[in-house]
Amino acid sequence: MSDEQTLLLVLVLLYLSDCLVWVRRGAAALVTHTGWGRFRIAGIEILSNHRGRAMALNPLSPLSTAFVCQGSPVSLSPDGACSHAAQGIDDLGPTGSEPVSVAPWKDAADTRTQSNDLLIGAERFARCSSRGLALSLARRISEIAGLPETEREEAIQGDLARALDSGRVAERIEETRNATRVLRPLCAVLFLFLFLVSPVAVWQHGFARAIVPLLVFGLPLHVAVLALFYRAHLRLHPAVREERWQHLVTMLLCPPMAARAADIVSRHALDLFHPIAVARALCDADDFAAFAKQLLLHLRYPLGAERLEPEARAVVEWSRETTVAAIETFLRDKEIDPEALCELRLPPDAAYRAYCPRCHSGFLRDDGECPDCPGVRLEPVEEGTRTGSAAAQGGENGSCTPTQGVAP
Ligand SMILES: [Zn+2]
Repeated sequence: MSDEQTLLLVLVLLYLSDCLVWVRRGAAALVTHTGWGRFRIAGIEILSNHRGRAMALNPLSPLSTAFVCQGSPVSLSPDGACSHAAQGIDDLGPTGSEPVSVAPWKDAADTRTQSNDLLIGAERFARCSSRGLALSLARRISEIAGLPETEREEAIQGDLARALDSGRVAERIEETRNATRVLRPLCAVLFLFLFLVSPVAVWQHGFARAIVPLLVFGLPLHVAVLALFYRAHLRLHPAVREERWQHLVTMLLCPPMAARAADIVSRHALDLFHPIAVARALCDADDFAAFAKQLLLHLRYPLGAERLEPEARAVVEWSRETTVAAIETFLRDKEIDPEALCELRLPPDAAYRAYCPRCHSGFLRDDGECPDCPGVRLEPVEEGTRTGSAAAQGGENGSCTPTQGVAP
């Protein structure tokens, strides 16, 4: 392999590394390949573990973008804060790999951050999907801890209402769109320059003759992308200073990563909002309905609540029930009936005798637990429920086949 080919390979590998998105459990990634085109709640999953999953954006589209949104990763109730939350997206419940902590409000006044972690006192309490979310939550928990006991419930519900506020989501999307309006096409130009124009120029004229004209055009382009990234990041994430400079230095040293600058700056721009409100704003009606149904069912039937200590369980359950009620109100405001949305739909000719209320899989047996949803008991299929979509097909043994759903 020649030196020029080796250099191109290194540039491609650096670029590909920035096409990977880490999505923590409880978070959703809304992906588009056309800048601001149709968003899907899906992606190409590369690997996953109990903490989350790595997803790949389409590397051939310099306009591909992922918004990563996470509802609150901690549960808040009038009694205190718990480091576990039932979030309804890709939930495994309390896995035991991370201890579940409960902090009464008298201790939570001293809530700080370290990178993406929330600290209460000197101990790590929970991890957020972004630095901005960690800073916002730490400030808010400290503020609620300082409130009179009688005002905390209203404050928590107010925060949830703001996370579901469609007007604020739309404003933030518009702000993000404006902040990256020039940066996004410039990133596409840099992508074409690095991976099309430069290799062709070197191939046609040789490295020695091509390098000077390439630098004359490429350096100003690179500097322009860095300057626009800095301005957009400062506008969208003013409090996240260290991360801004880390990205800037990385992109300065690795020009291929600068081709992803618009995606980097917008990835966590919406993470102060609940994923269902963001999905409503960005996805089409079918994708949103599938996502909302799965989210609501998973929140109504959380996994592993019985593994929590009573004190933690009380906080988590209060938070979960409050979130379910707020989401149902959100849906009704959009003229979507939550019960109709979550209606069981099994093929009319199927012989299913029971179903899982969490994942809506059909079963030939009468009772027991769903193998995909540990701890969730099957419920009998009533005659009236056999009239839905014929999308469900019997599995190998007819035991467990989701009737509807989206890849998280
Ligand atoms: Zn199930």
